[in-house]
Amino acid sequence: MEAKITNLVELVNKLPKKEKDLFERFYSVESSVANLKIPREMEKFVKNKFGLVEKVENQRIISINNNFTGEGSVFNELRSLRPIPKLKVNLKELEKKDNCYFCNPESYTPSNTFGRIKGKYCTTASNIAGYDYFHGLVIFKEHNPLKIKKEWLKDYFETAEKWFKEVEKVDKEAKNIFLIWNYLWRSGASIVHGHLQLTASRMKYGKIKKLEEISGNYKKKFKSDYFSDLSRVHKSLGLLKKVNKTNILFYLTPVKEKEILLFSKEKRFPDLSDLIYKIIQNYFQLGVQSFNLSLYKIKDYWVTHLVDRGNLEDRNSDIGTMELYGNSVISFDPCDILHNQKS
Ligand SMILES: [Zn+2]
Repeated sequence: MEAKITNLVELVNKLPKKEKDLFERFYSVESSVANLKIPREMEKFVKNKFGLVEKVENQRIISINNNFTGEGSVFNELRSLRPIPKLKVNLKELEKKDNCYFCNPESYTPSNTFGRIKGKYCTTASNIAGYDYFHGLVIFKEHNPLKIKKEWLKDYFETAEKWFKEVEKVDKEAKNIFLIWNYLWRSGASIVHGHLQLTASRMKYGKIKKLEEISGNYKKKFKSDYFSDLSRVHKSLGLLKKVNKTNILFYLTPVKEKEILLFSKEKRFPDLSDLIYKIIQNYFQLGVQSFNLSLYKIKDYWVTHLVDRGNLEDRNSDIGTMELYGNSVISFDPCDILHNQKS
């Protein structure tokens, strides 16, 4: 049977009992067909946009919830074929450096009280209107965010690690580190010039605290590790890749399109930079133009999320009421992310 999210119920039923039980511990799934009737006047339009009228009149929908975290997604691949209003965007504009403060960070960005940390390809700054007690930036030397090199990314991550260490010297309690990469405007980035954001807080962020509690309770209840069992579930369905000490999950309950999760036992997070570079290159191959990346630590795992935020030309937001208060609505099949991985 074809590995497709639309076949999830059948795929799970075919798993060995042990794997099926583990899947069912983690997930609730419902497969349904939404039926509708296309009026004759719409047939031409529907054929043009979606291919077959029957496909639109009988739509397979897969709803899936993580029983522990409350994460939930609804898959319907037809969603990606909907007409979406577009804006005109010229990617050459990303080269424009006029009035770019980040091209001259020494003069036009504030520094932290402990000064700036300089990498070979970047420098740090303090965020001018931060959202945490310690909120820094890693500003890339390269203005154009489309230009990324493996050694540059390593340098950005190593510089970030040094910044977190400096913060720790100032305040030992500010040990909850969080690395953010908002890549272009769809992801919430307000500045085009390439940069990472770093926060170090005394209090854990709510979602991280919650996940830590879930994994702690899981250990108590099942005498097993939440992250490795969740990885096993993904592995049984062919949605996992392992690279050294890192599990890459093509996530079953993505927050938005093409979410990839990394659970890594590498000692330092800069050790993940080559792998993340590769994942980003694969993202670009899939046509991703804007993404969010977060990285934080739970116990001895580095947890990283990457998620596609849509085309730069899309005029509508990819996040609506469903994503904020219901389940996330997804059109891209996680099984297809893996098929498209080059290496
Ligand atoms: Zn710039």
